[in-house]
Amino acid sequence: MTLLTVEDLVVDHHTPGRPPVRAVAGASLTVEPGEVVGLVGESGCGKSTLARAVCGITAPTGGSVAFEGRPVRPLGLRRRDPALTRIQMVFQDPYASLNPRRRVGRQIADGVRGEATPGELLERVGLDADMAGRYPHEFSGGQRQRIAIARALAAEPSLLIGDEPISALDASAQAQVAGLMRSLAVESGAGLLFISHDLSVVRLIADRIAVMYLGKIVEIGRTAEVWDDPKHPYTRALLAAIPTPDGSGTLPAELPGDVPNPAAPPSGCRFHPRCPSAMDVCSVREPVPLGGVACWLYDAPGSAAE
Ligand code: SF4
Repeated sequence: MTLLTVEDLVVDHHTPGRPPVRAVAGASLTVEPGEVVGLVGESGCGKSTLARAVCGITAPTGGSVAFEGRPVRPLGLRRRDPALTRIQMVFQDPYASLNPRRRVGRQIADGVRGEATPGELLERVGLDADMAGRYPHEFSGGQRQRIAIARALAAEPSLLIGDEPISALDASAQAQVAGLMRSLAVESGAGLLFISHDLSVVRLIADRIAVMYLGKIVEIGRTAEVWDDPKHPYTRALLAAIPTPDGSGTLPAELPGDVPNPAAPPSGCRFHPRCPSAMDVCSVREPVPLGGVACWLYDAPGSAAE
């Protein structure tokens, strides 16, 4: 059975006195057991909002989320469907997600569902069992993120979600933590939805990559295919912007203009004001996803593809 199915998900953010902002505007993706799906895109593109809707924290405005065949529905501020504890999230800032006043072993023990002890869970993430008696401030950033992962594993999740879990870490810890999340998920048969703005790390760990732009998934496919032959102009720009070893080239180096305001997205294809390949149709009609790519270059009205 497909582990996670997100279908045409729409999520609006409401702020009193302001028009609603459509953070996710009709996104679809799936995650299979034992599969790693990387979700990439610039800050503010809706990745984290999608993750919160998947976990049942944020209510969708439209579309659906199903986990292990059951619909995911938020139950309110203080209640969560017990079945959803098998979805566990690892957040960007491990220090903020750990209680500084409690020993890490106790924090891990809070979530234990099975037989594993906090010490065993620490060993699974590459730390020593006797570190369970220490406090969060006694660890480095990378170690703290490992502790956050151990705490997520305590619930024996079948779906792990990493919401920018490496962006607060130094470069050497980034690849290690990303690789650790992949191996822990794959070994246990769990799925992993790994959200990042760093395509180069996602490439190392993901079986499939989904590229998100302004609330929409514009390209999705096997990692090697997307990497070797990116189709969507936005994916091409992301790849072109990957930092070089000398540190130059930061996202979105190749793109003119800023990410548009999600409260007033461009007409037609949302990428058209920044797209070097834009055609007349692009500002008028929204492209329909075809073969994992939402771009009129591959499905132009009047073309053979239509
Ligand atoms: Fe560019 Fe048009 Fe494709 Fe959008 S639909 S990415 S504007 S070519």
